[in-house]
Amino acid sequence: MKAAVLFGDCDIRCADIPEPETRPGTVKVRVGACGICGSDVPRVLRGGAHFYPIVLGHEFAGDVVEVGAGVEGVAVGDRVSCAPLLPCRVCADCQRGNFSLCRHYGFIGSREQGGMAEYVVMPAANAVRCGRDVPCETAALFEPATVALHGILLNGPVEGLDVAVVGCGTIGIFAIQWARILGARRIAAFDLSKERMDFAMRMGADEAWNTREDGFAEQACGRTAVAAGFSCVFDASGCEATINAAFRLAANRARVCIIGTPTREVAFSMSAWELLNRKEFRLTGSWMSYSAPFPGREWSMVADYATSGRFVFDDHLVFKRFPLEEADRAFDLFRDPSQVRGKVMLLCGGEA
Ligand SMILES: [Zn+2]
Ligand SMILES: [Zn+2]
Repeated sequence: MKAAVLFGDCDIRCADIPEPETRPGTVKVRVGACGICGSDVPRVLRGGAHFYPIVLGHEFAGDVVEVGAGVEGVAVGDRVSCAPLLPCRVCADCQRGNFSLCRHYGFIGSREQGGMAEYVVMPAANAVRCGRDVPCETAALFEPATVALHGILLNGPVEGLDVAVVGCGTIGIFAIQWARILGARRIAAFDLSKERMDFAMRMGADEAWNTREDGFAEQACGRTAVAAGFSCVFDASGCEATINAAFRLAANRARVCIIGTPTREVAFSMSAWELLNRKEFRLTGSWMSYSAPFPGREWSMVADYATSGRFVFDDHLVFKRFPLEEADRAFDLFRDPSQVRGKVMLLCGGEA
């Protein structure tokens, strides 16, 4: 079969490799589409892979073409999205159902062969079924959609509350949609790109604020129900500016959740940190997207809402598409990350 194989640092090429074999408890999937995640970029461009050669890709979907012995609940012909975590299931965190916190985990597409290939074999438990009409490209976006939902569910109810989402990349856009579905009173989006602000408005935000402009936080807070700030604040970017903005937007006793993962050092000024004291807001982090029973309601909700069309995977989410043969060109785009405005998709041969 064809696969985009990472042979070494910066050396990703389409190659012919043996098709993986179905084992008991696993399913074989013909992959339609596989997204490139921000976490894949250092694996390819900065020597960050766990081993070579490896087939990366954990944001993918396709059709089941074979099921192993003992598999129930997934059948040939099902359209499935991959929930890539392989938790150990025996550690204390796994026993509590906090699979995202497992420290002895495997991961499809970084520690195991992934979805940038025509076929992939994975445990049936990791195959999340959705409607046949859901395009593979859409189902390949389930993982980032679950990451946004996990943060929101961890942070607590948003119903009837003023919600701020800081950073309107893929995760931020998904957080806005979940906040809408879960009944937020008013959703304010924050970004420094006009294009992303407009997109946020199209995807369900009630207002969008440019964080480059002075006084944006005070003005936005002035429009909340109690005119004192947002009860729920989500950082979907993980950089110093967005985390600081989140602190400014929080109301007294607010709940602030950091979903974004920092890729550079983050420092807090004394006055920013003091906001945490003065407002007595609760600050939480969020990691991946799993809960019990595995893979969790994050995944069943995304599959249900995508199948019914209530959760919208707008075409604008996908920035560019490449066939497997051009995987190297797809990763080259990330040499200048500011050029990448949305998800880069690899089309893997199955129905996209
Ligand atoms: Zn990812
Ligand atoms: Zn574990």
